[in-house]
Amino acid sequence: MIRPSLGRFAVYLAAGWLGVQLTFSLACRRSSEPASTQVEPRDANVLFITLDTTRADHLGCYAAESVHKKDGSAKTPHLDALAASGARFAEAIAEVPLTLPSHACMFTGTYPEVHGLRDMGGFVLSPQHLTLATMARNAGFQTAAFLGSKAVGHQWGLSQGFETYDDNMPSRGTEGQLPGVFPERRASVTTDHALDWLRQHGGQKFFLWVHYYDPHEPYDPPAPFNRQYPHDPYSGEIAYTDQQVGRLFDFLKQQNISDKTLVVVVGDHGEGLNDHGEGTHGIFIYDDTVHVPLIVAGPTVPAGRVIANQVRLVDLLPTVAAFLRLPPNPAAQGVSLWPLIERGRELPGKGSNYAYIETLYPKTYMNWSELRAMRTDRWKFILAPHPELYDLRADPAETQNVIALHPAEADQLQKKIWEIIGHQSQNQTVKYEPMSRESRQELESLGYVSAGPPREIVLNMSGPDPKDRVGTLQAMQEYDRLMKSKAFARAARIMEVAVRTDRTNPLANLYLGRAYERLGNWRRAIETYRAATQAGATSGEIVSRLGKAYLRVGDLKGGIDAMERASQLNPTDLDNFRNLGIALLQSGRVEEAERAFKAITVQDEHYSAAYNGLGLVAIQRGDAAGALRNFQKAIALDPTEVEPLLNLGLLYQKTGNRQQALRYYQEFLAKASPKEYAQLIPQVREAIQELRATPPGK
Ligand SMILES: [Zn+2]
Repeated sequence: MIRPSLGRFAVYLAAGWLGVQLTFSLACRRSSEPASTQVEPRDANVLFITLDTTRADHLGCYAAESVHKKDGSAKTPHLDALAASGARFAEAIAEVPLTLPSHACMFTGTYPEVHGLRDMGGFVLSPQHLTLATMARNAGFQTAAFLGSKAVGHQWGLSQGFETYDDNMPSRGTEGQLPGVFPERRASVTTDHALDWLRQHGGQKFFLWVHYYDPHEPYDPPAPFNRQYPHDPYSGEIAYTDQQVGRLFDFLKQQNISDKTLVVVVGDHGEGLNDHGEGTHGIFIYDDTVHVPLIVAGPTVPAGRVIANQVRLVDLLPTVAAFLRLPPNPAAQGVSLWPLIERGRELPGKGSNYAYIETLYPKTYMNWSELRAMRTDRWKFILAPHPELYDLRADPAETQNVIALHPAEADQLQKKIWEIIGHQSQNQTVKYEPMSRESRQELESLGYVSAGPPREIVLNMSGPDPKDRVGTLQAMQEYDRLMKSKAFARAARIMEVAVRTDRTNPLANLYLGRAYERLGNWRRAIETYRAATQAGATSGEIVSRLGKAYLRVGDLKGGIDAMERASQLNPTDLDNFRNLGIALLQSGRVEEAERAFKAITVQDEHYSAAYNGLGLVAIQRGDAAGALRNFQKAIALDPTEVEPLLNLGLLYQKTGNRQQALRYYQEFLAKASPKEYAQLIPQVREAIQELRATPPGK
């Protein structure tokens, strides 16, 4: 077989289409211990359901106790029935108002200082932790998890111990979303997958985790819940989730395994809903975002019990482990709640009365002070630049700071913080490790990561008190609203004001830059991102966007330099590697481009665009077979990707396969967005006419 010459093709591609492609590529998308032989594990199952972003007071069975009378609540008949058949905890407290750290508290039974998942995106659970799933698997239970969002994706380490970890989400359209908003899927899809698994495995004892992300913003409930909650879509999402949870409960009943299945339903954190100036969650640690629903039902759980004692999410591992009769996990910092569940009895010793709470999110995203708190049945003390104390009995809505009236209580609770999490936690430096050791080693072998120092933050309460920055939070909420309604100029003006008073805030600067991007004002976007990094308000995303903005004004070298810096700041930003790879190809730096695309595939072997990039690399090297293989793989991974179709058409045309060239060009035309590919579509039509005019066999 004669190897086709690609010489002319390579020149054509580099000079023509790749240049155009650069612009549209930027625009689019975005230890296990042996089981004890002394006690037999119980012949039973656990269905562990986590409701993301669900405030306790928005469930029907909690609504009567709501301290915010203005708020609505959702109709949740299935969860209400579960509570009536089991035990409902009136005061369950999450340790962190953020998805990943909170789930890590549940599944390791430890506080963030121990499990190390301090925030979203920068930390991976070390394999040395013994998770609840690992404990169950070691004892012979089948383990599976079905997730509603990439926020708990396997790369963060919570998959430890799960034989099945279903976290496949639609990948497109991730870029341009808000920080903290991850690709998600509807509850119905997650439930379908969980039920499929249960039909196959429900006959043998299991530990099953199902995670529902729907109540997380954006609030967008499907019909009929969008019509039932037209002015309160957040509650609509909760009502919809309740319906889907009901499908799991129905299955247990149909299979007659309800009486041998412990069902745990718990929220990972709440939602601010502006009760303290925060719309969503992560900044503050008032009860709005840390008081969560917790319902336990199943064998030996008395029906209709309501437990008033404060409990914590770190108590769930010891509780479930005790139910399944697993060997104890000595690292766990929580206590088993069975004395409370079965007999309503106080827990021995300190019990669950001291709940430690923290959030590093204000520090990591805003350069404000981190917050910590100690909560008891009676008091909440918040350690902030201006500390707060609330008497929860007299003031459950936390509106009156009474620290001046009760200095001794505040003092005692502050000491308790350091007693529980360790005095070494004061002035602690936290180092970002956004990937596992294996991924890091693979990347290092490609020449990435090791060059850049990891991001570090010092936890010393430096920076503004978050409650003094409610104005910025409100501006950011208004910005979101304006951006959604495409009022970009007004969004930019609001953030210009916010940044003036909060220059070192990375997120506020990012928002401002994005408003300029949407206005097409690339120069202002570049100025904003550069000023932010000079003011110390740096993040991987700011530098990555700076790189893309440089490319948009034709500064290829500036763009590549910035995107390389971004890849060191955040090597898990795969879209950044993709854009870097394309820019390197356009500069003729083929080896480096290949490295960038491979940096994607070692982290996510299903990322279609990386194979499209590797196909282009192969073309530059005259390797037609390699190009073909990579383009086809890109299409197989994501049939909605149109660029590999175009590249295949071009490749077949250049190698003389007229039929195949026509086929792929036509597929491209059928699928390509007319707006996104406005410049290319006429060129492809022309190529098709040219091919049709050529007699077959030529
Ligand atoms: Zn969450």
